[in-house]
Amino acid sequence: MAEHIPKPEELAQIDYRPPKKDWRDPGVEFRKGFFCYSAAPKNLEYLGLPNPRKWQPYDEDWKLPPNWQQIILEGMRERLQKYRSFRLFMDICVRCGACADKCHFYIGSGDPKNMPVLRAELIRSVYRRYFTTAGRLFPWLAGARDLTVDVLKEWFYYFYQCTECRRCSVFCPYGIDTAEVTMIGRELLTLVGCNINWVLEPVANCFRTGNHLGIQPHGFKDSIDFAVDELAETTGIRVEAPINRKGAEVLFIVPSADYFGTPHYFSLLGYLMLFHEIGLDYTLSAFASEGGNFGLFTSHEMIKRLNAKVYAEAKRLKVKWIIGAECGHMWRVLHQYMDTMNGPADFLEVPVSPITGTRFENARSTKMIHICEFTADLIHQGKLRLDPSRNDHWTVTFHDSCNPSRAMGLLEEPRHILKTVCNHFREMPESTIREQTFCCGSGSGLGTDENFEMRMRGGFPRANAVRYVRDRFGVNLLACICAIDKATLPPLLEYWVPGVEVAGVHELLGNALIMRGQKERATDLRGEALKREEAQAHA
Ligand code: SF4
Ligand code: SF4
Repeated sequence: MAEHIPKPEELAQIDYRPPKKDWRDPGVEFRKGFFCYSAAPKNLEYLGLPNPRKWQPYDEDWKLPPNWQQIILEGMRERLQKYRSFRLFMDICVRCGACADKCHFYIGSGDPKNMPVLRAELIRSVYRRYFTTAGRLFPWLAGARDLTVDVLKEWFYYFYQCTECRRCSVFCPYGIDTAEVTMIGRELLTLVGCNINWVLEPVANCFRTGNHLGIQPHGFKDSIDFAVDELAETTGIRVEAPINRKGAEVLFIVPSADYFGTPHYFSLLGYLMLFHEIGLDYTLSAFASEGGNFGLFTSHEMIKRLNAKVYAEAKRLKVKWIIGAECGHMWRVLHQYMDTMNGPADFLEVPVSPITGTRFENARSTKMIHICEFTADLIHQGKLRLDPSRNDHWTVTFHDSCNPSRAMGLLEEPRHILKTVCNHFREMPESTIREQTFCCGSGSGLGTDENFEMRMRGGFPRANAVRYVRDRFGVNLLACICAIDKATLPPLLEYWVPGVEVAGVHELLGNALIMRGQKERATDLRGEALKREEAQAHA
């Protein structure tokens, strides 16, 4: 845990002067508040990962295997052959600097090694030394470095200060995706047992019980039953939330935070209300009880292992297609990897909305659509009765979560929903939204307390844009569609922009949804009283 967390005014004094030492010097200081603790050996053992042991990043001796250099270089060679993009990203950077000031960690810390170009250079310099002729013959001239223990420590420090958000790739004229370089960097570190617990504990839980939190099937059912009871109190309607029902048309996958954390839980209530109101024939799965996939932050192999349950459950339950809930990295995995890693899902059908008849051709190969695509279509076709005045206590802005926006282009659908269910909506400045959105600063498994200062620094550009709309338009709610955002944005805003809360898009949809047979709504989904005149209007 960080011993001293500076006050926001103190932390905003960022020193952008470059350090005096040469960039090739790998020395890093593991200061509390800036790094994450190592993974517990039991989690490595459970997952069959190499070199389980007790160690911490600030230890002098990381207890690496004796042949650790050979393992890493062999791992690099293998990946250079396997992933053409990796080799390309190692070769084609011209150091133009277009990405240099685009990373939220650089903006928030002033540390030049958090510039995407330099972050990738940490591994590129080793690539040059061992895999290029110029680097072998003239290492100094070629910008090549030996792979030393200090270089490995530096990789660990900076590859766990990258949230794999891909903002930098939007600005690179060559399309270099530093997030993918980070992914390979973390994969190589994993080969010698250097990983963080905030990633590997959820991965181990997920492998054991199907979800990050380690909740067993009966716990999952209890949580869903609790939500059904609560909705009955709020709306007077007892919805059905079927689990493991064979032969349903649709399998619905949620991130586990939706049934275990707030404000996520209020979006779960919104989904259940929506599905009841339109009479959707669907089922949840107690085994595919997690859409999120921390494998994305570990290795490609781990992505595949954790994601397999989605199609396996779709097959077992004999559904026709799949809807996924509000989650960030679930959508990166789904959109970029699922079809080739776990597919083809020939046993499923192309999703067709049973209410509107819309055929989602974009999901032709994956057979899985995002809940916002589904709901935006319902609204667009006039199939929902909505009362946006129930959200009048909120002036809302929208944070494009990195993965749904940059990895799948989901930009308009959430906005269409929000602008229909809320009367007061304001955008943040253009350079901070849509494809250019700023990360929450805590994605890719970095949302832990021990690196709190770095999180606050990384989240500074996002918070700054929220501050702008709060001060200018009175925005008091930041809506988003990512489970990690819903967990990490509240402390970020409390630190930088007090007075702004966080909600999922389907929480606001649930507030506005007029259900047939509902009792007079006195409260919103948070249990907060609606204003008297609103309550009368809804009677
Ligand atoms: S923008 Fe692309 S080419 Fe330019 S320095 Fe960054 S990664 Fe290299
Ligand atoms: S992927 Fe995101 S966090 Fe990583 S270097 Fe690029 S902008 Fe920074």
